[in-house]
This record gives sequence, structure tokens and C-alpha cells, in this order.
Amino acid sequence: EGVVYAEMRRPCRIMILVNPHSGRGQALQLFTGHVQGMLTEAAVPYTLVITEHQNHARELVRKADLSQCDALVIMSGDGLLFEVINGLMEREDWQEAIQTPLGILPGGSGNALAASVHHYSQSPPAWNEELLLSCGFMLCKGLVSSMDLVSIHLASRQRLFSFLSLAWGFVADVDIESEKYRHVGAIRFLMGTLVRLASLRVYQGRLAYLPVKEAPKLPKGSIKTNQPPSTPQHPSLCSSLPCRLIPNTSPNRNARHNQNSTNSNHNTITNSSNNAITTKRPETQSDGKTRAQEDSLLPGLDQPVPESWTVVKEEDFVLVLAIYQSHLAEDLWTAPGAMADDGVIHLFYVTAGISRPALLRLFLAMEKGGHLACDCPHLVYEKVKALRLEPVSPQGMITVDGEMVEYGPVQAQIHPGLARLICG
Ligand code: ADP
Ligand code: MG
Repeated sequence: EGVVYAEMRRPCRIMILVNPHSGRGQALQLFTGHVQGMLTEAAVPYTLVITEHQNHARELVRKADLSQCDALVIMSGDGLLFEVINGLMEREDWQEAIQTPLGILPGGSGNALAASVHHYSQSPPAWNEELLLSCGFMLCKGLVSSMDLVSIHLASRQRLFSFLSLAWGFVADVDIESEKYRHVGAIRFLMGTLVRLASLRVYQGRLAYLPVKEAPKLPKGSIKTNQPPSTPQHPSLCSSLPCRLIPNTSPNRNARHNQNSTNSNHNTITNSSNNAITTKRPETQSDGKTRAQEDSLLPGLDQPVPESWTVVKEEDFVLVLAIYQSHLAEDLWTAPGAMADDGVIHLFYVTAGISRPALLRLFLAMEKGGHLACDCPHLVYEKVKALRLEPVSPQGMITVDGEMVEYGPVQAQIHPGLARLICG
């Protein structure tokens, strides 16, 4: 009997984690008001967990029996997903655990991943409830694609995993200082930006990075390279060739299907007819598995950077921002070409000497992704695989996925496709 049961389709079990204090403190009401009915109608069974304190979600996923869980979804801002990803990576069985599909429902004030996922689905921009409905709909559809993670080393030898950003200077300050305006919602970043502009300062430090080598143009039919193209022809990650899989039919379901910019690969976690689970967690991707065990691109923080790295000449910055999703906030389309699994850290920095109006112009242009077209001589954009930042200014803030981390030297490297993300 047990065997028969195991072969039967079983309902897709989703654990939804809600942070009741995120954003304007309405995540739970937003869930019951907008998402619950949708999931019921689509017959998607879920378990709702309301977090009680910071790191509750992290501890919970570190110990959870994930064989009982087909997806982990967070209804909060980006901070709660940061907890979940690090909880998964702290497990003994992290290689398997990090393959659990992750979903996001915007319930915080910083909903960068939700905005990015919505953008990858090629939908026109959406905010607030509209963005929530879009993400709820994607959850019901249950398409899964791969997502890069970035490992981050801090001076205390702590190693963290990040899905969104590493920031120092202006952006990090706004991230943290604007938390006190959380009750106003996503607009807190604009308020924080204006306040910070008034007290604009320069941050001293050293920056170095390993650039992505742009692939030479190869004639058709030539050997595949692993380099992403310099300008993706398709801005959307999730538009191409969704592959809806039926149970256990595809041994290589996690293989990358395409070699060009549309290298998305979708699996479905729900069945379109009855929303029963149709795929099991895939075999661990050998790709991510080997690369995450060690950070092969990073020497010790006390060692000099390798010769192949570029050392930035300037040492006076207004901001340094490494981002690996398209959006830094709902209305900040920061890395226009970025996709969740492009294998690239999009590194931006602004050097000292920029005027307040010019910096404000950059942030205003960012709403439509137009900041690179501003021709601002202080703004530099590079595609990199790894980077190191060594602050010299004795005071400042560094954030990872919007969360403050220890201030000091920090380095990071990309792990392509290490995690899996529910997106449309
Ligand atoms: P927001 O976008 O509003 O900042 P986040 O999801 O980023 O929302 O959450 C903000 C912070 O709250 C994060 O540091 C997260 O770890 C923490 N947190 C999560 N659950 C709780 C809770 N129940 N009570 C207090 N803080 C929490
Ligand atoms: Mg946050």
C-alpha cells in the first residue's frame, strides 16, 4: 500500500512564512485579503507560518523536514528570504535543501525580488497590491527556474549567501536609515535618498573585481561557452520555453536548455489540471554543488587579489553596489539587463565628486532603468564574477540583501544557478 501511495500524485505542499511586522505591518492582512483565496481556488495546499522574531524563519528552515515541503514561500520583504536562504545553506544537507523552490510574495517595504520576478515575466511594471496579485498568480502557476546566489565573506570569517545585493556607502546608508520610515511602505527609499542627499558624504576604500570575460562572437554551431552575452536580447528570464514536466520523466530537468541569453529553465511544481505535485526535487545540480563547496575565485581576505582581477584606481566613493537581480526596489530598475540566472554580479559604483543634483538624477532615472544613459562620468558599471571591497573610512554601513552586516573588508563570488526560484 505504501508503495502505491508513494507513486500517487500528492498535493503540492507549500510552506508560507509571513513576517507580520514587515512593511507597514500588514503582511498577514494582505495575505488573507489577496492571496489566500487565489491559492484556495487553484487548490494549492499550504501551511502558513507567522514568524515571531528575527531569525525565527532561519532557525525553522535549518531544522525543518524538507521532504514534506515542495516549496518555501515568504510573504515579507527581502530580509525574510535572506534568513530562509541562509538557514538552508547552514544545513548539513544544504546541497539538497537549497534546491527547494523558493517563492516570494511582496509584503515588506523592500520588495526587490518580487519586483524583479514580476519584471522577468515580461509584465508591465506593477506596484503594491497589483504586484502582490502578480506574484500570487505565479505561485499558483508554479513554474520554477534557477537563481544565482552570491557567497559573501566577512572579516570575522563568517560566510553568508545573498540573492540580491551587496551595498556600501550611499545605498547601504539609505537601506538602514530608511527602516525607521518602514510604515510608509516602498516610498521609504525615496525619503531616505532625499535625507541622505542632504548629508552626502564620501567613503574611502579599495575596490577590486574579477571581470566577466565577454564571449567572442562565435559562428553558429560552434562550441558552447558559459559566458552570458553582453547585452541580452530578451530582457525577460521567464518568457522562453517553459518546460512543464510530468513526474519523473526528465532525468536532466535541471539542465540548461539554451546557451544564449534565454537560458532559463522552468520546471513546474504544480500540475496544470489538478495542482498536484508533478516533479520531485531534482537531483542536486552538479554545477552548483561543486562550486558552492568552496569559493574557487576567492583567495583569503588577508591575501592580495589575483593578477587577473581589476583594481579600481579611485579610492573615494559615494556608493558601491553589487546587484544580481534587476530591481533594487519596486521602483528602482537598477540592473536593466540582469536576470535571476545570468551568472553575473552587476557591479555599479559612483566615485566622489558627483554633485547632489546629478546623483538625484541617477536615482530618478533608475525608475525606468535609464541611469546608464545619463552619461554620468562618475557612474561606472561592470559585469563581474567576484569582487572585494576594503573600506578605509572608519565608519560606515555594509548591507547584504538590505540587511546590515559587519562593517569591514568583504568579498563575494557568484554561484550560478545554485538556488531555484518560482517565477512566471
Ligand atoms: P521590510 O521590507 O519591511 O524591511 P523584511 O522582510 O526585510 O521586511 O523584514 C525586516 C526585518 O525583520 C528582517 O531583518 C527580518 O529578519 C526581520 N523579521 C522577520 N520576522 C520578524 C518578526 N516576527 N519580528 C521582528 N522582525 C522580524
Ligand atoms: Mg528589509
